[in-house]
Amino acid sequence: MTKKEFKSESKRLLDLMINSIYTNKDIFLRELISNASDALDKLYYRSLTDDNVKVDKESLVIQLAFDKENRTITLTDTGCGMTKEELETNLGTIAKSGSLGFKENLNKDDKINIIGQFGVGFYSAFMVSDKVTVTSKSVDSDEAYTWESEGADGYTITKAKKKNNGTEIVLHIKEDTEEADFSKYLDEYELKSLVKKYSDYISFPIKMECVHRELKDEKKHEYEEHKENETLNSMVPIWKKDKNDITDSDYENFYMDKFNDFDKPLKVINYSVEGMCTYKSLLFIPSHAPYDFYTQDYEKGLSLYTSGVMIMEKCAELLPDYFSFVKGVVDTEDLSLNISREILQESHSLKLIAKNIESKIRKELETMLKDNRETYESFFKTFGVQLKYGVYNNFGADKDKLKDLIMFYSAKEKKLITLKEYVDNMKDGQDKIYYAAGSSVAKIDLLPQVEQVKDKDYDILYLTDYVDQFAITAIQDYDGKKFANVESDNLDLDSDEEKEAIKKVNEDNSELLLAMKDEIKDVCEVKFTNKLKNHPVCLTSKGDVSIEMQKVFDAMPNNMGIKAETILEINEKHDISKKLKSLFESDKDEFVKYTKILYAEARMIAGLPIDNPTEISTLICDVISK
Ligand code: ADP
Repeated sequence: MTKKEFKSESKRLLDLMINSIYTNKDIFLRELISNASDALDKLYYRSLTDDNVKVDKESLVIQLAFDKENRTITLTDTGCGMTKEELETNLGTIAKSGSLGFKENLNKDDKINIIGQFGVGFYSAFMVSDKVTVTSKSVDSDEAYTWESEGADGYTITKAKKKNNGTEIVLHIKEDTEEADFSKYLDEYELKSLVKKYSDYISFPIKMECVHRELKDEKKHEYEEHKENETLNSMVPIWKKDKNDITDSDYENFYMDKFNDFDKPLKVINYSVEGMCTYKSLLFIPSHAPYDFYTQDYEKGLSLYTSGVMIMEKCAELLPDYFSFVKGVVDTEDLSLNISREILQESHSLKLIAKNIESKIRKELETMLKDNRETYESFFKTFGVQLKYGVYNNFGADKDKLKDLIMFYSAKEKKLITLKEYVDNMKDGQDKIYYAAGSSVAKIDLLPQVEQVKDKDYDILYLTDYVDQFAITAIQDYDGKKFANVESDNLDLDSDEEKEAIKKVNEDNSELLLAMKDEIKDVCEVKFTNKLKNHPVCLTSKGDVSIEMQKVFDAMPNNMGIKAETILEINEKHDISKKLKSLFESDKDEFVKYTKILYAEARMIAGLPIDNPTEISTLICDVISK
């Protein structure tokens, strides 16, 4: 019996498999089952189109068995089988589908990635076996053949005896090593779990003789054991069932089981699409953020099935980052099973599906916002940050898709409102959307600059998340209305006379103001204002970077020293203004102390740190003990 050599690419792949660099060896079973399922599909199709081939649908099964003593796992199907030539070409050559695009210079991680994402079909058997024996009989032949290989150095094909068409694959399981436990696969529970995990939705029954224990004598604790050929897979995926046959608890159980959540989902979206792309999808919005959602470890993605076979547990390409919280399953026939990750990413079909899913999720959220406000608010409290992040990410490329889904706290309504609701309720003569930023609603409410806007009876959006202001900056305007930060220096709320009056005060006191600015240095201007009611001072900003944004930059590890251009504004109606004016004439030393204290106050109110707290505290004591 002569040994035949594998084609060179196959040989290299086999080396890879035998040396098992890929840690998730479990997938070998999924690969073999999916081949078996294909073979059954092919045969069934033949029976529909070829009068010479008769098939009883009941006979289309996949049988799994294991033998602990002899260390074998056997997988048998009653499918189309392979002729001698087919055994030769199909199992002697790999990568004919080009799925691996096998390159010499791939590094270890890339290799793991390729195998990890898709498995490599039949050859994955060598991850767990030191010998593989395939006996097959084609529906088109009266003869059966056995293909056998112990790995990279070749394979043999010999005549065999087999009564019915189909394929039997015997895996001779490797001995355990220090790094790897192969014996675990020779176990009923393990095999059952693998089938459940990866092949549950295969549409043919996957059967295995399982041990059943029945209580014989309760008092004596005696059991009777017998074997039963049990079907391990549920066969019909929940997303393929008629919606009317699925109960809420079916959805919930499936969700909690599949996505390891201990809570019910907030929303279930079950739909199918036919046309430009064809797929079925079952999506879930969780009711709370997964424990690792805000960590680097969180992987977004939907489980991707093609024709009932899971080809990827988390296909990231199917979800935009701003919907990364969505869990679910997509089942399509538009993609082939053995598609490499690179090709998949570039796949036109996948892009179409992803686009479709994005717009479906968006529409569902819009509907929820319209019809079920309470649920939406609860959703938004959990995942709103993600949407706001989506608004400003990618230089605002997605802002128009998301701007109607985001909400902010309204000073007037004292609850979350949308931008549309804000604009719809704007006062006559109001032409801007006012907002104020801070670390909490309570703190923003006390900001001096908020008063003047409230006095005009204008609503203010309170931005409390660090992403908020970046999102607002990205949106730029809503319905033609610009956003205005109450903290900025040019709010333009005054009448012309008021503007003139304050302009004159500032001109008359230009020397005093310049002296203050020179003393403080950090600010770009000091000026009197008429916009404050009770507060003596406040800090405002001009330009693109606001004080709240500066705080975000300051907190970043790679902080590039981006600073807001700040202005110290002094309440012209406050007694402190008179005091400053008189000190400027009479006592320059005291004037400097007041300047420093007032600036520290303004920073404190704005929530900025005070660089020289000891000096300030000494100055305050100096002044108050006089
Ligand atoms: P792929 O399934 O992507 O083609 P595989 O390496 O898994 O790659 O299988 C190679 C080929 O071997 C299959 O395309 C199929 O023609 C054949 N094959 C594998 N397993 C079976 C089986 N159980 N019955 C019939 N043909 C099979």
